[in-house]
Amino acid sequence: MDNRSNIHNGLSLSGLLLRAICDPRSKGIWKSRAPNKCKFFLWLALHDRCWTVDRRRRHGLQDTDACALCHTEPETINHLLITCSFSREVWLMALSAIGCQHLTPSATPSSIADWWTTSRKQMDKAARKTFDALVVLICWSVWLERNARTFDNRTKTSQQLAHGIAEEAAVWVRATYSSLQVFAQQFGYRFGRESVLCNKPVQKMWLPYMGHFL
Ligand SMILES: [Zn+2]
Repeated sequence: MDNRSNIHNGLSLSGLLLRAICDPRSKGIWKSRAPNKCKFFLWLALHDRCWTVDRRRRHGLQDTDACALCHTEPETINHLLITCSFSREVWLMALSAIGCQHLTPSATPSSIADWWTTSRKQMDKAARKTFDALVVLICWSVWLERNARTFDNRTKTSQQLAHGIAEEAAVWVRATYSSLQVFAQQFGYRFGRESVLCNKPVQKMWLPYMGHFL
């Protein structure tokens, strides 16, 4: 890559970042307590800027359009993140930990922005902080799982991914993103003086939800 390309790419990236930060529709994302790379990913997702299979196909880079997670529906970003049967299992397991299983996205085609806006209105201000951070973490984790399957041929079950989300939530809390503390505590993670890790039998807790979408 020559210098001109580097400069061009640098300008494109900074322009995109500036646009992302100034976008009034994305206020909720930037307010959420989560690492910036995850929030930026979600901003890209809300604006359909992620390189999903449907986008690759539109650009002539790929012939098939099957979702890497369920292998049955076309892979759009909204499908991947909220309406895919695999993702919905993950949402149900994670949201049940904070008593919000009723907010699990439905299989009806919808946009993540609409679902998020509608769902967060149903909770008080304090719960919203946890919910917003959890939305960012789940979307980010589902996207990483999709990439692991697409590029590295590595696969997790929905239960393994939900376990990974709880583990990552504890890492975020220890890195000062405290909004997820309530969520991580449901999985036995303790912080501050009680920082000894003490895992609850989460498998037992999730048992009622396993196979919900099968
Ligand atoms: Zn799918």
